[in-house]
Amino acid sequence: MKITRITVWQLDLPLHKPYWLSGGRLKFERLDSTILRIDTDESIHGWGEGCPWGVTYLPAFGRGIRAGLEELCPLLIGQDPRAIDRLNRLMDVALPGHPYIKAAIDIALWDILGHAAGMAVCNLIGGREPDPVPIASSVSTGTPEEMLAEVERFRGLGYRVHSCKIGANVGLDIARVRHLNAHQRPGEVLFYDVNRAWLPREAITVMNAVAEVQSWFEQPCETLEEIAQVRRATRHPICVDEALHTINDLSRIQREGIAEVVNIKINRVGGLTKARRMRDFCLAHGITMMIMDSGGTVLSDTAIAHMAQSIPAPSCLAVWSCQDMIRVDPAPSQGARNVDGCFTAPILPGIGVEPDLDVLGEPVCVYA
Ligand code: MG
Repeated sequence: MKITRITVWQLDLPLHKPYWLSGGRLKFERLDSTILRIDTDESIHGWGEGCPWGVTYLPAFGRGIRAGLEELCPLLIGQDPRAIDRLNRLMDVALPGHPYIKAAIDIALWDILGHAAGMAVCNLIGGREPDPVPIASSVSTGTPEEMLAEVERFRGLGYRVHSCKIGANVGLDIARVRHLNAHQRPGEVLFYDVNRAWLPREAITVMNAVAEVQSWFEQPCETLEEIAQVRRATRHPICVDEALHTINDLSRIQREGIAEVVNIKINRVGGLTKARRMRDFCLAHGITMMIMDSGGTVLSDTAIAHMAQSIPAPSCLAVWSCQDMIRVDPAPSQGARNVDGCFTAPILPGIGVEPDLDVLGEPVCVYA
């Protein structure tokens, strides 16, 4: 089997409503997604998506993906798409770093392999675990009352896990955490995502002031050095998100005891292949995971559902459903959907999503 053509679309994804991170310092209203289809000479094709959360959240942006594809796609034409590790090495030699550029290609390769084997991707990457995976909400930052109202809205959609965005100033953050924690319901999980907004001094002050909270704090500071400093001076479990890019970051997190939880975002780490290596490392070392993406449609959401569905339940806390936050759906009624606050990976071969070409519109680029 050989790759014969790669077609690339750009898709604007307007959010249902403006979204704020870290005390209002970052506002988001629309996402810039890149969707691609890899065709082969055996009438099998695969779909992938890459969608950073705006341009300020990570060192990644939508136009960057499409510029990187200009470098990578010509090299992939003529290659066997089923040799996924080999093609990842090829891409890493041709364009070192830039994992977010490679994720959409990698997802499409797994989609092709699934179609070729007649197996769902979660079965290919290790086997389907029986339980649906809880979806974590993404609660935009605001006043304590506004945030609780947003949690309430997500409760109405079936969510029982909530990622509450904080990180403004010490006093307001303590008030937010106390208010939300006081209104947590039995069976619910609320955790607090700082999106790297605190200095170590602020993190230590807030976390030690809310000792009653039986949950974890995500990415309290910018760097692993700062988070390690917070780790030594606090008692809550800590999750690393934005500072986890490579398996070397992950091995350092384990070696130095920096965090008990990691948020593996498929797009940020370079696709399912590299996320799978991280998954296995985490399972070997007792690190708990959340499997998410940095944004995207039901296509990205379904890719993460397959990875999450391959992880035993105690080790996988949650996924994320970006589709619930955007106003565009290129594959209505397909893929992983919120059912009672959970995702289940489709049983169809591959990823199990076939986007509607009418929604995608004209491609921005074709490599053949
Ligand atoms: Mg996060």
